[in-house]
Amino acid sequence: MRSINTDFVPADLDASTWEAIEPFFVRLMERSIHCGNCLRKLLLDRSELAATIDEKRANLYIEKTRRTDDADVKQAYLHFVENVEPKIRQATFDLAKRIIENEHVGSLDEREFGVLLRAMRAEVELFRAENIPLQTRLTTLDAEYDEISGAMTVDFDGAERTMPQMARYLEETDRDVRERAWRGMSERRIADADRIDELFDRMIELRHTVARNAGFENYRDFQHRNLMRFDYTPADCETFQKSVEQVCVPFLKLLHEERRDRLGVDRLRPWDVKVDPLGRTPLRPFESETELVEGSSTAFHSMDEDLGSLFDSMREGDCLDLASRKGKAPGGYQYQRQRSGRPFIFMNAAGMHRDLQTMIHEAGHAFHSLLSVHHGLVEYRESPIEFAEVASMGMEMLAMPRLDTFYEAGDADRARRDHLEDVVSMLPWIAQIDAFQHWLYTHPDHSRQERTGAWLELQGRFGGIVDWSGLESFQSKLWQRQGHLFGVPFYYIEYGIAQLGALQLWQRSLIDEASALDGYKAALALGGSRPLPELFEAAGLRFDFGPEMMGSLVEGVTATLETLPA
Ligand SMILES: [Zn+2]
Repeated sequence: MRSINTDFVPADLDASTWEAIEPFFVRLMERSIHCGNCLRKLLLDRSELAATIDEKRANLYIEKTRRTDDADVKQAYLHFVENVEPKIRQATFDLAKRIIENEHVGSLDEREFGVLLRAMRAEVELFRAENIPLQTRLTTLDAEYDEISGAMTVDFDGAERTMPQMARYLEETDRDVRERAWRGMSERRIADADRIDELFDRMIELRHTVARNAGFENYRDFQHRNLMRFDYTPADCETFQKSVEQVCVPFLKLLHEERRDRLGVDRLRPWDVKVDPLGRTPLRPFESETELVEGSSTAFHSMDEDLGSLFDSMREGDCLDLASRKGKAPGGYQYQRQRSGRPFIFMNAAGMHRDLQTMIHEAGHAFHSLLSVHHGLVEYRESPIEFAEVASMGMEMLAMPRLDTFYEAGDADRARRDHLEDVVSMLPWIAQIDAFQHWLYTHPDHSRQERTGAWLELQGRFGGIVDWSGLESFQSKLWQRQGHLFGVPFYYIEYGIAQLGALQLWQRSLIDEASALDGYKAALALGGSRPLPELFEAAGLRFDFGPEMMGSLVEGVTATLETLPA
């Protein structure tokens, strides 16, 4: 099935040091290129080297998250990131420059190499040596933000608790407990708000300079290019924002009203949005890791035999580490090991519904990895986030009818309702964060007061009916919780774009599940080899941010919600 050439880099090369990797870069840089074919071979060999390095990085990262208490494992990863990766980055850039400036580049097949060359050209075009120290400075500032946020704890319920630990109190049915937890968290955050504002001021200034150095008017336009957004513009993002405001915000307000009535309160307060409105205990879809794996396998097989087999192929060969265990890092992810073509799924399952969602989500990413493994170019074995998340979020939607594998009928419907409501309620927050960033970077000289003003105005556009009276100081700093603003600016709307794809896929499946799944598999097999709109099209989806499209999706959600019990 794999068509990857394996004669350039030995299969057993240990790519953990620069000494091991450098000779291959040197060979690629020095190889003479006489014709388009030589250049084609160079691109494929370069890809094989990249896959080998990528797999090394993957394994170092995976080990680090599996054993956070092992200092050697951590050190090995840090050594790679700090000492090897910068050299790889420089060598990769030099090689990209050599390729796109080569006289034979025009003779490469556009269908085969067009998408890759487009990305390489952008990378070379944006590169400025004088920006490297600024980018390092930005990374340090982001680490400082992580440090400030990570150090936040609250004394609550007789113990010192981290913010993630505090989050579960917001799901407590006792309203007074929720309020105290919410206030404790918010007051702790406000204590560092000035420090974070100060740090953010410096980030905005640095980013503006980076953009100007690269010849852009502002950082918004620079970053759109830097994030390789070739197929949509800042104006399209504004269309997305307006569509959300028009169709999702009214939906969110209705949900809030319903919630307020079910909770029996006169005003919905910020501590009322996470609790189950009918006061039920949390869903428990499984007890053990084995149960989770068995159940997932059954669900995928009943959905589609191909996907079922792909899932089963990961049950061997150390592809799954699912159960929560002391010493494991938090969170969940799927990581493809590019050289061997074996995906890895990591998570911290503890028997909760969100764990089941994570399993299905990450399995969607793994299907993507497995279905696109045949591409010769490593770049095409991964797709842009806007579509990669269609594979995962789309699978969450497609799996809804199969939740019966884990639940009795009533609980399955409860999980379906929660999921559909969450999907649409998330879109206003995504639009708000995106609109905020557009404003920030097109007004680089703004004062902190103006920043607060801009944020609160957006809260008015995208917020629901939550009553913030007396809590305005907290409300004005809500954005500080969204780590993306600090670490990966502008990277957020991707989730909204992908969710539009996932919702369309679900709509298709309601009409004809088998054909929706065929489209899903066909599009995933393209990996990143085609531009975004074509990836959507291959799955039978429209790449469209307008209000009509979004409106019909939200109508579909509303129609299904009406068939589900409260
Ligand atoms: Zn994902």
